[in-house]
Amino acid sequence: MALTEFSIIERYFAQPAAMRDPDVVLGIGDDAALLHVPEGMELAVATDTLVEGVHFSPHTKPGDIGYKALAVNLSDMAAMGAEPRWATLALTLPQADESWLADFSAGFFALASEYRIQLIGGDTTRGPLSITVQILGLVPAGTALRRSGAHAGDLIYVTGTLGDAGLGLRVLQQPLELSAQHAAHVMQRLNRPQPRVTEGIALRGIASAAIDVSDGLGADLGHILQASGAGARINLSTLPLSAAVADYVNHSGDWCMPLCAGDDYELCFTVPAQKCSALLDAMKSSPTGCTHIGVIEAAPGLRCISASGELITPRAGGYQHFSSDE
Ligand code: ADP
Ligand code: MG
Repeated sequence: MALTEFSIIERYFAQPAAMRDPDVVLGIGDDAALLHVPEGMELAVATDTLVEGVHFSPHTKPGDIGYKALAVNLSDMAAMGAEPRWATLALTLPQADESWLADFSAGFFALASEYRIQLIGGDTTRGPLSITVQILGLVPAGTALRRSGAHAGDLIYVTGTLGDAGLGLRVLQQPLELSAQHAAHVMQRLNRPQPRVTEGIALRGIASAAIDVSDGLGADLGHILQASGAGARINLSTLPLSAAVADYVNHSGDWCMPLCAGDDYELCFTVPAQKCSALLDAMKSSPTGCTHIGVIEAAPGLRCISASGELITPRAGGYQHFSSDE
């Protein structure tokens, strides 16, 4: 390697002084970072790894990889209603490719500066390409959104639209008849997902349960149902679809795209009926807003009802690593 581990860090991962955060007592450069957690706040911590060939193809642009490695972690903070503040980055690289590093770090810091996230440490090693980001955030004590609070009668909502990233992945895998405009939209959604951080924070005190849709609506809503000991009914005709996914579903009849495909990073959440007007107020300033798609029921299981009233059971849901049918 022409570049040493330390020159990589200094050149590509040191943030400008303007980004320094007074709650970072000690950042990059020592054996550990030191953070000040303000009185009355809880520290929310999550981590997500992207592995080449599993989470992104070898053709993915390094800027998109850097962006998405942080975006998927910000999405976990959004799902908890936490404000993301700090990140660590463990980077395993096959070689120190300067143009790859420059693009990767530009993608990472484009999103980091949008949310004022400070990079406080990490690790840099040689090996097959893999990126692990750990995100740390703050939430007022006792207000974090969990998966376990849904009750029968609560209404189910999702932010944004569903199935776009899945359709983007399909476009990469096989030729599809898609307009250039729709193809560009779904590729943007796959490569540069917008974490719903503002929406997650606005849902504190309103949502009874929340999760981010990383593995597909069926699977992720399933996690809420399991944690809450409840079931649900959703109406397929109310699922929010982009024009690209709506066209695709109309032509193919494949409801699995919005129901089972992952990587959208929208929020799925439940709201008690008496808080629905508070929800409308809270979502007023959200550019994507949210859509009511169903209701929590006492009977376990997920029931999907088609426009004609038929009960549809989507293919057992979501992408699972280490599942026996891989
Ligand atoms: P140690 O050997 O004590 O673990 P390292 O030599 O791995 O320390 O790292 C030196 C400093 O650089 C540490 O503060 C570490 O957090 C930081 N660091 C290492 N890799 C990265 C990276 N990819 N991005 C940001 N900071 C990093
Ligand atoms: Mg180290």
